[in-house]
Amino acid sequence: MSTEMPDRVVVVGSSVGGIRAAQGLRAQGLTGQVVVVGSEKAAPYDKPPLSKQLLSGEWNLEDIALVSVEELQDAGIELRLGVAARGVDVANRTLALADGTTLAYDALVIATGVRPRTLSAPRTVPLHTVRELADVSALRAALDSGGGLVVVGGGFIGAEIASTAAGLGVPTSIVEALPAPFSRVLGDEVGGILARLHAENDVEVVSGTGVVALRRGPTGLTEVELGDGRVLSAGAVAVGIGCVPNTEWLAGSGIPVSDGVSTDEFSRVLDVPGVYAIGDVAHWHDVRTGTSRRVEHWTHAFQQAQLVAHNLVHPDDLQAQTRAPYFWSDQHGVKIQMVGRRGPADAVDVVWRDSPGGPRPVALYSDSGRFTGGVTFGAPQVSVRLRRAWEDGVTLTEARALVVGPSEVLPADARMGAPAQP
Ligand SMILES: Cc1cc2nc3c(=O)[nH]c(=O)nc-3n(C[C@H](O)[C@H](O)[C@H](O)COP(=O)(O)OP(=O)(O)OC[C@H]3O[C@@H](n4cnc5c(N)ncnc54)[C@H](O)[C@@H]3O)c2cc1C
Repeated sequence: MSTEMPDRVVVVGSSVGGIRAAQGLRAQGLTGQVVVVGSEKAAPYDKPPLSKQLLSGEWNLEDIALVSVEELQDAGIELRLGVAARGVDVANRTLALADGTTLAYDALVIATGVRPRTLSAPRTVPLHTVRELADVSALRAALDSGGGLVVVGGGFIGAEIASTAAGLGVPTSIVEALPAPFSRVLGDEVGGILARLHAENDVEVVSGTGVVALRRGPTGLTEVELGDGRVLSAGAVAVGIGCVPNTEWLAGSGIPVSDGVSTDEFSRVLDVPGVYAIGDVAHWHDVRTGTSRRVEHWTHAFQQAQLVAHNLVHPDDLQAQTRAPYFWSDQHGVKIQMVGRRGPADAVDVVWRDSPGGPRPVALYSDSGRFTGGVTFGAPQVSVRLRRAWEDGVTLTEARALVVGPSEVLPADARMGAPAQP
């Protein structure tokens, strides 16, 4: 591995990972050439608002810009938009672009993200996903045409689409194959709280059954046939059943790919000098757990972008990502924030806290008394405390003390997503 600062860095991917890496290189003092290549034509924008404020119409394109073209020019960062990378020659350190040109690099940063997984059920109707700008206008037009919305898949992006649609007054259902939406990440109990939040906000949650077929019905609406025999009708169907990494363009390059681009803890691609991968596309080694995995969260992509910039400019002082895992989601006006991770066998304690908007839960996960993760609903300060506590490696008892004093603990009979009392 070279200990020289590179002269020419090419970044592939013009979203948060790629753009923040390019800016980070300048902030770290890189004086050489920096080029960002992006397959989307649009100026770099942020993705989390797509399913929230952009779909609702509350924000427009300017509100979601990651950076202006002028700022990039001032920083001496060259932007090549609307052209996909289609191959890498790692021996000669060149990147081939879809327009037939090639770019030479000393260091290559891969930040090509992911794309939505498609539904395998037979269908004769168009389906909506939300990953890029054009997806939002297409879905919004379909929502405005009437007939309601069915969201297939109760993950966070699907749940946000449902929440935004319901906020626009669109009759909305979520179909989730697991026993409770969100239960894969949050467990059944906390998944149930979130499901009730949706139900309280007029979203029908159908769980424990999958979609077996989709077809155009006699009224022109789409019929969504479920495994339990039910048929839901809607003007629009959106799918949020997970994502696959954008790595096909690396086929034959020798860059190791296994559910994403395989990297070490410093974002260096395994066994390929000069190549790095960050963000959603990276299958990265987490020194905190000793395991490798992909993470599809904004903060992770942002932090890895900063770290890769540091590591490229300071190869003698490599730094690994050790911050607490973190993501947020906005649903029905409630900011949901998760710190840490829930292991499949972790215990969960749900604490109810008073808040101006009514009683709200905080879920604390633990393994043999060690705090492993926490989910807050509309309590950002508590989330910040839990984030620090996770990094300090606290016990469940210590984490609980940070959440709420004894007098504030409320019975679980309150408004936000509380189970119905007998
Ligand atoms: C609708 C939506 C809502 C979200 N909400 C949240 C949230 O509330 N909280 C949260 O933590 N996270 C959220 N996320 C996830 C977060 O946005 C991602 O983790 C983050 O965008 C990852 O950044 P990235 O740069 O790694 O990849 P991406 O943002 O996926 O960007 C990759 C870019 O690379 C481009 N590209 C792909 N292939 C090529 C190629 N061959 N050549 C050139 N360019 C290429 C793509 O077009 C894309 O622009 C959301 C994501 C979406 C889609």
